[in-house]
Amino acid sequence: MEAFHAGRNNNNQEQHTAACDCFVRTLKGLINYVACQKSPLLVFGNLTVEWRLAMAQSDLKGNLTVPREEELKMQANHYSYITLDEGIRLFENMHPPKKHELKPYWQLLKTYQNQSKDRQNFQHSATIRDKLSFLTLDMLTFLIDEGILPPNSYQLTDQDQQFLRNEYPEQRVKRVEQALQNPEKYPVPFPVWPRDSWNIYHHQCPSCHSQAQLYGFTGIEVEGKQDFLTFYACSLACEHCQLRLWDLSELLIAGCANVFDLSHQLDQWLNDHRLFIPDNSTMPAK
Ligand SMILES: [Zn+2]
Repeated sequence: MEAFHAGRNNNNQEQHTAACDCFVRTLKGLINYVACQKSPLLVFGNLTVEWRLAMAQSDLKGNLTVPREEELKMQANHYSYITLDEGIRLFENMHPPKKHELKPYWQLLKTYQNQSKDRQNFQHSATIRDKLSFLTLDMLTFLIDEGILPPNSYQLTDQDQQFLRNEYPEQRVKRVEQALQNPEKYPVPFPVWPRDSWNIYHHQCPSCHSQAQLYGFTGIEVEGKQDFLTFYACSLACEHCQLRLWDLSELLIAGCANVFDLSHQLDQWLNDHRLFIPDNSTMPAK
């Protein structure tokens, strides 16, 4: 973090990239830690049945002697770890409000990771570095506050606090206010969203009032006997005036709605997601 704060004011792309790589490693470690806290079985995807059983029992008893043979296999990466994508999905499912708040950041992390071979051409490196830094500090604070990480695992410095609570939010408010007046002059590296119609919702652009696209996700909630379908908007892109609103906070600053009731499309949603609902009637006859 010290190197990140020291390098913030210069324009050295190599330093930005080094900082980004460091944040990516930390974030992957945190995601694995969260999964492991839930159950070690989740982190190692292809464990033997015997080993799974030993771990499941140790969850209850709190102690586990790792057989030497298995330990060696683990060290040799014999077992595959949970992928970054799976780890993020697990975290999002465990903490839904965080999903709404941080989804564009995880999308950016994945995009950055996939483009790592072509770093030279990666534009906006300082902006990406700030966003990954925000994600890292926000995750650390959240996991410590929730008791998932031990309190002494990381102590935010004054500079960290200053960045997380003042600089980054102020920078964001300023950019959005300017972008609403003159969108083309204030671009941001936009997160890549999966191509799925349930991730997109059309809505009026707060700058030019044309139809813009909101990106986010659709989720189902059960309240009593009724099911509700909701679209949660995380980002906005307007192809008419080029306005980009990057995350939930930017949507709020621009006064843009971010939660939409889609309950009238519930049947369609269930139809699109029927693979997840076991239905014996559709099984092929033997
Ligand atoms: Zn617009």
